[in-house]
Amino acid sequence: MNSLMDITMNDIIQLVYLIAAIAFMLGIKYLSSPSTARKGNLFASVGMLLAIVATLFNENIISYELIVVGLITGSLIGVVLAKKVQMTAMPQMVAIFNGFGGSASALIASAEFVNLSNTPDKFPILMISLSVLIGFVTFSGSIIAFLKLQELISGRAIIYPFQKTITAICFISIIALSSYLIFSTTSTIAFIIVISLCLLLGILLVVPIGGADMPVVVSLLNSYSGLAAAVTGFLLNNLLLVISGSLVGAAGLILTTIMTKAMNRSLVNVIFGNFGATDSSDSGPDNTDKIVRSTSFEEVAILLAYADRVIFVPGYGLAVAQAQHQVRELADLLESKGVDIRYAIHPVAGRMPGHMNVLLAEANIPYDKLYDLDDINDSFDNTDVSVVIGANDVINPAARDTPSSPLYGMPILNVDKSRSVVVLKRSMSPGFAGVDNDLFYMDNTMMFFRDAKDGLNEIISEVKDNLL
Ligand code: NDP
Repeated sequence: MNSLMDITMNDIIQLVYLIAAIAFMLGIKYLSSPSTARKGNLFASVGMLLAIVATLFNENIISYELIVVGLITGSLIGVVLAKKVQMTAMPQMVAIFNGFGGSASALIASAEFVNLSNTPDKFPILMISLSVLIGFVTFSGSIIAFLKLQELISGRAIIYPFQKTITAICFISIIALSSYLIFSTTSTIAFIIVISLCLLLGILLVVPIGGADMPVVVSLLNSYSGLAAAVTGFLLNNLLLVISGSLVGAAGLILTTIMTKAMNRSLVNVIFGNFGATDSSDSGPDNTDKIVRSTSFEEVAILLAYADRVIFVPGYGLAVAQAQHQVRELADLLESKGVDIRYAIHPVAGRMPGHMNVLLAEANIPYDKLYDLDDINDSFDNTDVSVVIGANDVINPAARDTPSSPLYGMPILNVDKSRSVVVLKRSMSPGFAGVDNDLFYMDNTMMFFRDAKDGLNEIISEVKDNLL
């Protein structure tokens, strides 16, 4: 009985933090599959709610008014953004959120510097320096990523003389000044210079990276924002912050690795390779003399209605046109005629990992019909028609066959092996990588030049009116 009485509010808070940490881990586990992703989101959200409520009982809180203002403002912004932002603008939204996460950690660490500047203990100042470095680099880097993705500044890689040397000098200055802060002085001026240099470093690191690589950078910055939170957790002695920050850091790094692998790039090449700094003259083989065969909705409808096996290949254009419901409707019609329908999902189709899974899930397309690259690539050989909807780079055979192509080495979906290929897009414009596509000139390929939603609606009407 006595021992129960000894339980303090802090013990209860730590227990709730532990439950929240478990909820975060379960959340991440369930998010790894589309079929359990909603449950994962719910677990993680409940974990966060528990963490926030428990923190509100912390005895060190001085003023609740400011916290309430922050909660209401943050929630309002979150709700409005979640409702308004289009799926296609998700990468820049994630970028800006990462930036806020990083800056929150760095600002807390900066406030602690003011509190702890006279402590003889070196550890807190070391943690503050680390949090400021990672947090502010994440903040300014994320802002540049956001501006590039939102096309508020040029998406091209901006290269200038001595770029890498200037970046290196900036980094070395931060390390030198931080060491000075840790071991010699607690000068506020020196600390403000460190903060300014960290903000500059974030800009210097992201400006030379082309828009094409921005989603990878966003994923890496996401990982940094987690690290900043974990370091701040050590500083505040807050176990939950350490655990959740580490989870974000590790998950972001794993995602970055998956993305670079799917694009056949190394992380070093993304960060220092200046991909996108060159002109589009380096756009692979010359296809100028080759013939393109265009087709009509009537022809596509007949081809599909009399096929046995069809594979739909969604890409970024499907997301732009928001044509996922039309894909589902067409698939339902064809299945009612006995056609076997599958969907081939490339890991970097669209503009963020899982982009196509999310879109197709929105239209309630069954998960068991969605196949990853490795699981479906051998099936194109015995497929009657592959219908490419707004995809381009992820089906470019040059990535497999043409060593001179900038895409060479990136794993692709082998749609060109199907008996017929229909490519639904508006023009011959290249995709994200700015590279011409050999597939469009192949004998078994037909180009259906239309907006994805309009084109699918035309095919659906034709099937309904004349082919059922
Ligand atoms: P692409 O960007 O290669 O091509 C998209 C195509 O969609 C364009 O060629 C465009 O052609 C077409 N399109 C645009 N709007 C419409 C519309 N309304 N209706 C029909 N078609 C439309 O897309 P992919 O999905 O094939 O490839 C993704 C690219 O993004 C890859 O290069 C990948 O490396 C890159 N990337 C992806 C990331 C991810 O995580 N998913 C991360 C980083 C990079 P047109 O204008 O003629 O219609």
